[in-house]
Amino acid sequence: MDICEQSPHYIRAIAPYEPGKPISELAREYGLDESRIIKLASNENPLGFSPLAKAAIERALAELPRYPDGNAFGLKAALARRYGRPAETIVIGNGSNDVLELAASAFLAPGRAAVYSQHAFAVYPLATQARGARSIVVPARDFGHDLPAMLAAITPETRVVFVANPNNPTGTFVDAATMEAFLKEVPGDVVVVVDEAYTEYLPPEKRYDCVRWLDAYRNLVVTRTFSKVYGLAGLRVGFALCDPGVADLLNRVRHPFNVNSLALAAAEAALEDREFVERSFRVNREGMAQLERGFQALGLQYIPSSANFITVRIDRADGKPQAAAVYEHLLRRGVIVRPVAGYGMPDHLRVTVGLPEENEALLAALRAVLKG
Ligand SMILES: *Cc1c(COP(=O)(O)O)cnc(C)c1O
Repeated sequence: MDICEQSPHYIRAIAPYEPGKPISELAREYGLDESRIIKLASNENPLGFSPLAKAAIERALAELPRYPDGNAFGLKAALARRYGRPAETIVIGNGSNDVLELAASAFLAPGRAAVYSQHAFAVYPLATQARGARSIVVPARDFGHDLPAMLAAITPETRVVFVANPNNPTGTFVDAATMEAFLKEVPGDVVVVVDEAYTEYLPPEKRYDCVRWLDAYRNLVVTRTFSKVYGLAGLRVGFALCDPGVADLLNRVRHPFNVNSLALAAAEAALEDREFVERSFRVNREGMAQLERGFQALGLQYIPSSANFITVRIDRADGKPQAAAVYEHLLRRGVIVRPVAGYGMPDHLRVTVGLPEENEALLAALRAVLKG
């Protein structure tokens, strides 16, 4: 008897998440100097993080012998002020990944289903499958979410719909009117999780106020993160804005001390550094334009992106995908990007927007690889 066979079949069937390759791993595997490696693989902030967050971490070090505040009073108060929502409508997670898992725990189970799009963020299938629920994957349209088709795919067993806006790894965006039309139509007994991990990178003309919708749609759960524009991916902090009843449910399945004290202090401070967020936004816009120009010069097609990364098509040769080979060649040149074959996109690579010199190094390496 194999003890592993005692695990439910749906757990054993989970395909592990494949993260972007860490810098230290590439250095070890290829004998490269860590300081010369450029990582544009995990949508991290190339500017680092706010000095206000650093100072807050230093202050919070003295508290390490104590358990963190499991109710995250300070961070919730800061978020409540920022979004004009009561603290009891906010749930704090160990990254927004944790919040997505909490939503799945609270609403999914064997016999239930979740709807999400083809090419959507990898955590949705993982969170769904870990509860023994069924995934209903709706074909994408131009790589983006086809919300009318997702609406039509909702079955009586469906309890959760996941929508990433912008989506990762495609960078595609659903505009406010389309999103609100969708929210109006989704049955009230289906939770709509709108994952806004990249919302701070949206150009002004695309921004929308989801907070306004929370009062109208009690089944709406908006998730945000400190991992992207705030540059705190290593600390793991995210949050949900939702109905107070839903927040109460998510808190019941949450680990009591799910977010550590340094992370709580850093996130609270980072929220106040508007200048850092604004600078990150600008650097991203300029870097995005730089990458687009570079890809055009190389004759490469890309999916127009509303986030801090861009997904570029690597043409096939002799009918065979080349993206994996190009990824390997880039690694040897010390540049890490992200293959997205696991997202059903074997002909694309996802590139995080970096600093100008990092973007240039990526383009130069790509040019060398493609043009021999
Ligand atoms: C990066 C990302 C997240 C955030 O993950 P954290 O757990 O907050 O680090 C959430 N959703 C999407 C679509 C992402 O790309």
